[in-house]
Amino acid sequence: MAEPIWLYQFRLILIGDSTVGKSSLLRRFTDGKFIEYSDPTVGVDFFARLMEVEPGKRVKLQLWDTAGQERFRSITRSYYRNSVGAVLVYDVTNRKSFEHLESWWHEAKQHTMPHNMVFILVGHKIDLASEREVSQEEGQQFARTHDMSYLETSAKNAENVEKAFWQVTREIYELVEMGVINTEEGWEGVKSGMMPRSYSTIPLSAQQDNGGEKKCMCS
Ligand code: GDP
Ligand code: MG
Repeated sequence: MAEPIWLYQFRLILIGDSTVGKSSLLRRFTDGKFIEYSDPTVGVDFFARLMEVEPGKRVKLQLWDTAGQERFRSITRSYYRNSVGAVLVYDVTNRKSFEHLESWWHEAKQHTMPHNMVFILVGHKIDLASEREVSQEEGQQFARTHDMSYLETSAKNAENVEKAFWQVTREIYELVEMGVINTEEGWEGVKSGMMPRSYSTIPLSAQQDNGGEKKCMCS
């Protein structure tokens, strides 16, 4: 049987105040780039990347980038329900963004029920060491109280970016493997792997005839 290019697809959402660096984190993670003056996100943006969770086992990450501004919040809410993971981001040089974490966390919790959501807390922009307003201990404390992992990152120098996404992906992967989180009809949070090679062996004409539908390993 052909190996799937990915075993699971997880949908993650990035949340936190605007300008904390959510889009920059995603750009660094998916594209390896950093832009000093990036345009603010309008509504919701979408990124994707494969990640190896253990040797030979890949997960496809669908990453939803949200705008932090209040006027976009109603859009954001509709994306929580279909996510299995949330990256909660604040800016270590912006105390307000840290103080707002509690409300972001509550909002996510409220809109994901009855599904399980795996959170990771990310204290971002640590390259700006002299401007720091939130200590590492405070970040750690919030994460401990809310039962989530914690990492400090910089999109500018790429520090811990890979590790942060790996960490949350790995935690979700373990819960899926243990059967704590399951794929569900009508829920986009976790999907089972596609079989691209069996698909590519079907003649193109036949693919067009069946509307280009892909073969799926979904149980
Ligand atoms: P978002 O609104 O949360 O998506 O934030 P953006 O990704 O648009 O970033 C807001 C601003 O912070 C931009 O000017 C980025 O260049 C800057 N920024 C993002 N990440 C970092 C970082 O790790 N270090 C520094 N020094 N600046 C960053
Ligand atoms: Mg943005």
